[in-house]
Amino acid sequence: MIIILLLPSPSSCHGHGWRRDPSLLPNPFSQLCEPSERASCPQQCSPEHTQRSPASSGSVKHAMTATEKILARASEKGQLVPGENVWVKADILMTHDVCGPGTIGIFKKEFGQNAKVWDREKVVLIPDHYIFTADERANRNVDILREFALEQDIKYFYDIKDLSNFKANPDYKGVCHVALAQEGHCRPGEVLFGTDSHTCNAGAFGQFATGIGNTDAGFIMGTGKLLIKVPPTLRFVLDGEMPKHLLAKDLILQIIGEISVAGATYRAMEFVGTAVDAMTMEDRMTLCNMVVEAGGKNGVVPADSTTFKYLEGKTTVPYQPVASDAEASFLQEYRFDVSKLEPVVAKPHSPDNRGLARECKDVKIDRVYIGSCTGGKTEDFLAAAQLMATSGQTVKVPTFLVPATQKVWLDLYTLPVPGADGMTCAEVFSKAGCDTPAAPSCAACLGGPRDTYARMNEAQVCVSTTNRNFPGRMGNKDAQIYLASPYTAAASALTGFVTDPREFL
Ligand code: SF4
Repeated sequence: MIIILLLPSPSSCHGHGWRRDPSLLPNPFSQLCEPSERASCPQQCSPEHTQRSPASSGSVKHAMTATEKILARASEKGQLVPGENVWVKADILMTHDVCGPGTIGIFKKEFGQNAKVWDREKVVLIPDHYIFTADERANRNVDILREFALEQDIKYFYDIKDLSNFKANPDYKGVCHVALAQEGHCRPGEVLFGTDSHTCNAGAFGQFATGIGNTDAGFIMGTGKLLIKVPPTLRFVLDGEMPKHLLAKDLILQIIGEISVAGATYRAMEFVGTAVDAMTMEDRMTLCNMVVEAGGKNGVVPADSTTFKYLEGKTTVPYQPVASDAEASFLQEYRFDVSKLEPVVAKPHSPDNRGLARECKDVKIDRVYIGSCTGGKTEDFLAAAQLMATSGQTVKVPTFLVPATQKVWLDLYTLPVPGADGMTCAEVFSKAGCDTPAAPSCAACLGGPRDTYARMNEAQVCVSTTNRNFPGRMGNKDAQIYLASPYTAAASALTGFVTDPREFL
């Protein structure tokens, strides 16, 4: 059930023990939008509001959302309002094997063949998309990244040289968004740009993280800056106790189904509430990863003790968390009682084509895919394995497992699955008849070259823990993809039909 409220919002602060920039402290005054935006403003704030603007004093500041605060710090402004265009300093620029070569080409064309990147410690290069393939152009892309990393003495290049055995490449990580988190590049209060639309994943850390194109990335490589329009914020309050059959994937599919694939276009999507407070960092990543499927500019979860604990030992870079002020202005607020929600899927061919899993029980499937930045993290596999172990049954359709990173792959072979008598995920999956966990990469999430592992080369029906189900996304343009949680994917694997996980949990 959802309740949609307009402004104002009573509270959004999450306490933490970290020092805040005095320039970002809460202020009792707030301004809702700029005059140019007023006509279309859903809040319909009055013209008098601007006439009373405290900004004329030159010293009184607005309350701000977390996203506005991060961008204010990064642009060295005391305050910002949605719609302003500001030059923002990047803390991290990430690019991968698909967009890296294009980005490097633009950088060299615009800044010169001998130009140096603005900061060799802030450019992160992660080959992850088309890795385990014989495709020469795909392999060449990784070579270009390697040559550039050497030339520029890039500090963070997660290289892979031996494609025959990913374990022989200790530097190789796997899917960029999960690798960024695991390697400590996602830090509260910072700005992360990446040449990949799911860069928004890092909003889980209270970071402003968004996907950009190669041209913008080439510009950042040379200057460390980018011109950004400050997005207004939609706030999603997720309260209540999560039922044991629900996962974060169900929540974000629920939300996208509610607001549509265009419902958050160029908006920040902020997630708060008791259900979010109780989430792990991987849950929060699942939420933020998919904000772009609603058109969102970025997702953001206020950093808290869960965040700080996750970051322990991962970074030595000091960071400065922010949270929305109590009086901050949100464009709209959505409230969910998660205890009332049911497992959902996104039916072909759009992430907002929401349906209840139980209502799709007659949909016969050909395969199941568990992987990607959205659904290939350690906890995703633990959830799938737990359901399979509880059932004691074997899969009825080919079930492909693609860990996002080397660390996730290792976890599959070392961590015990809850309630599985000490068995690891790998052991549970093997017993259930799944395919052996593959080498970490994006694999079939994006289709890729025809020899990509688990690519949909035929017009089959797949239940997948990935994030997009557009025609052709996983290969064949006539294939049908049902996006689902790891629980729903595992339950569907056991029956050969789209299946509500409550049948097994
Ligand atoms: S796993 Fe899929 S969605 Fe994630 S970065 Fe790779 S191709 Fe993109």
